[in-house]
Formats: sequence, C-alpha cells, structure tokens
Amino acid sequence: MTRSASRPGGRPSEAIVIGGGIAGCTLAYELAVRGVKVVLVEQNAIAAESSGRNTGTLLSGPQREVVELLDACAEIYAELAQGPVPFEFGRIGHLLISQDETDFAQASRVADRYRSAGVAMEEVSGRDLARDSPHLGFRVAGGYFVERAWTLEPMGATHAFVHAARAAGARIATGVRVAQIVSRGGKVEGVLTDQGIMSADMVFIANGLWLTELLRRTVGDGPLPGLPFTAGRGWLIQLGKLDVALPWIVEELTWPDQEELGRRMSLGTLADVAAQRDDQPAVEAICLNPMRGGDARLGASVQPAFRDLVRNTDMPSRIAARALRMMTGLGSLSVKNVYPGNRPMLSDGMPVAGRTPIQGLFLHGGMGSIGMHAAPATARWLADAVMSGDGNPKQDWLLPTRFPGWR
Ligand SMILES: Cc1cc2nc3c(=O)[nH]c(=O)nc-3n(C[C@H](O)[C@H](O)[C@H](O)COP(=O)(O)OP(=O)(O)OC[C@H]3O[C@@H](n4cnc5c(N)ncnc54)[C@H](O)[C@@H]3O)c2cc1C
Repeated sequence: MTRSASRPGGRPSEAIVIGGGIAGCTLAYELAVRGVKVVLVEQNAIAAESSGRNTGTLLSGPQREVVELLDACAEIYAELAQGPVPFEFGRIGHLLISQDETDFAQASRVADRYRSAGVAMEEVSGRDLARDSPHLGFRVAGGYFVERAWTLEPMGATHAFVHAARAAGARIATGVRVAQIVSRGGKVEGVLTDQGIMSADMVFIANGLWLTELLRRTVGDGPLPGLPFTAGRGWLIQLGKLDVALPWIVEELTWPDQEELGRRMSLGTLADVAAQRDDQPAVEAICLNPMRGGDARLGASVQPAFRDLVRNTDMPSRIAARALRMMTGLGSLSVKNVYPGNRPMLSDGMPVAGRTPIQGLFLHGGMGSIGMHAAPATARWLADAVMSGDGNPKQDWLLPTRFPGWR
C-alpha cells in the first residue's frame, strides 16, 4: 500500500512520531507506507517500556469495541508475520476459569456479554477440566472456552513494525528525547529535542504514559488540556520452559472489562497519596500465556499507581499463590524473572486516537491493558483519517473529545 502524501505546494508531508513503543511503531509504519516522510523519535530504545515487557496476549472481551480492535489487529499481525522479523504470533485457545462456585454461577452473565460482542463461548465444568488435564491439577468451579485469541512475543512484535516502517522509508532516531512540542498560530511546527529543533508539518504524540507531560509542554499555542491518565501498574512472572502441555491462555473470569478497569484506576489527589491508595490492587487475577517459544508469562495485577513510585512488591508472590491454588500442577515450573510494568491507562480503559485543536498535532495513546491488541488497528484508522479525512477516526469512542476540556 503506497500512496503519496503531499502538502499543498507538492512537497511530501513530513511527520514526527514521538515514542518507540507499539503505539509509535505501528503509526510510523502506517504513515510511511502511505508515502509520508516519517521520523520516529524515541528517548530510550525501541520497546524499552511496556511494549517490550507485557504478557503478549490478544484476547476477546465482553465489549464490542474490544473485539473490533482484536479482529482488526489479528489481520495486521498476520500481514507482518510474513515479514523478516519473527514474533511468535499465532492463534491459541483461551480458557476463562473461576475458582469460586458463586462467581462461576454469576459468570453466565459475563459469557452472555461476550456472545453479544460476537464471541462464541462454551461452558466447561471444573470436574471436566480436572479429568481432561490431570497434569495441570485444576481446582476450579468451572470455566468457558472462548472462541478466539492470539499470542505473540511483544518485543519482537514492536520491532516487526519499526522494521517495516524503516523499510518503507521512515527514519528511526533512538536516544533522542522530545522536550517540547512547538506550535505557532494554531499550527504545529515541530519538536524541540536535546539535539535542537526538528521541523515537521505533522506531529504525533505516541509516548505512552508520558503523553500528558507533552500536552503540558506544547508551547506557543499550549498547554493543551490534560487527559485522565494513571499508570496501571502490573507485575509479571517470566517462567522457563513449560514441562506441561498448555493449549490455552488461561485467564480468570474476574478480570474486569475495559470500562470497569478504567473506573478502578482513578486516582490523583494529594489525599490519595497521603492514604497510600496507590498501594491498593484494583485487579488481582491470573493470566497465563504459554508462548510459542516454549516458555510462558504469568500475570497479572493492576493497581492505580504513579509512574515512578513502586509499591506492592508482594504482588508476584500473590499471583504465584493464586495460580497454584487453581492449577496445582504448575508448582515445579522454573521462574526466570519477575518485574513490574506500567499500563498507560485512561479513565474509560480505551485508547485515544485523533486530532488536537492544534493543526497537524495528533494523539495516539492511552493503550492501557490492551496496547498490543489495539495499537496496530488504531494506528491504521488514525493514518487513514489523517490522509483522507479530518484527522479523527470514524470510531468516535477513540476521540480525545470524549474527555472534559477537549470539546
Ligand atoms: C504487566 C503488563 C501486562 C500487559 N499485558 C498485555 C497483554 O497481554 N496484551 C496487550 O495487548 N497489552 C498488554 N499490556 C499493555 C501494553 O503493554 C501497553 O498498552 C502498551 O505496551 C503501551 O504501548 P505504548 O507504545 O503506548 O507505550 P510504551 O511502550 O510505554 O512506549 C512509549 C515510549 O515513548 C517513549 N517516550 C516517552 N516520552 C518520550 C519523549 N519525551 N521523547 C521521546 N520518547 C519518549 C518511552 O521511552 C517509551 O519507549 C500489558 C501491560 C503490563 C504493564
């Protein structure tokens, strides 16, 4: 797909994409293949933050928008998987489980919401799971087999996009930090970096949890209004080679939908910090992804947190204990590493993509808990909207105008 983008004078458009995570790399790719002259600017290294260290699941959910994102992304990953950068992409089973009888009895309502979102669900009893997979030692009330899910290795996937962007002509500048966005007379002019001013007629802010800081540091016509961001802190356990067959991503049914997740993330007053409310887990539910490389990643927790303040270091033990209560056969699996990560989470749990009041300045972020399974699609929709529309994707649930101060 190569369309030539041009400014009124016939010169090609120039775009700066800020951020080398999945949000920035997907966008750099989509713009470059449309003929835009792209420079991606990353302060650190490609996929140095959340995009290089997450669970790597692409899961259905009980929301239509989430399923729309999932299906669109699966198609795009399938295209990229043909390319030179392998990233362990493949379709996989998805099993939702519930330990508790009462929760399981109520789960039929959750299953109905999945079905209404277009995802087939098949109920299974805890007894049948224990009988059919004795090596896993299931001790659960029951669960559901979910029709579709995919797995990938996130560092490789992010690199696959940046590699494809480079092949389409994009320049990738790592180790360069954007300090400010420069705009005058209601129009973006470029960015200020540690190496001086870089000019462009389009700038895309796609820098994860730091997005709010760049809205504040849009000078000339700024600052722009903020967005309701919280770091949705989570912990992951990197397991070694699995010595057991595990044909599904296993997830607990208690994992909330995006809207509920976003609601639980709100935090931000001095009183919250004083009361250490950023120390309270908002979600504790296992998610075990058997990766195609033969190992696995086990999460996951979410707690509203500030980016640079790490609390709750007992969470990995709680996740491990929780997994072993429900799958008693996993105790001998080797652990290679344990680490925290941050989800750039907006208050409704959904991403943001669209134009700002400043001409030529766009947002692509708020990827929250679903960045790997949202960004390839939102980047494509945003690039289409920028090249042949008004800069706002037709999916109005993505637009910044859904937040106060942005109307
Ligand atoms: C524990 C955990 C598990 C997860 N599991 C999954 C999962 O299974 N499936 C899924 O879909 N999602 C998952 N996620 C969410 C996913 O990781 C994120 O949504 C996604 O990685 C966010 O991508 P991003 O590009 O917006 O941000 P990031 O990956 O954080 O990238 C932003 C980049 O911008 C750079 N940057 C910041 N400021 C500047 C600046 N001023 N100048 C230049 N560069 C700058 C940063 O250095 C960074 O590299 C998980 C997250 C966590 C924490």
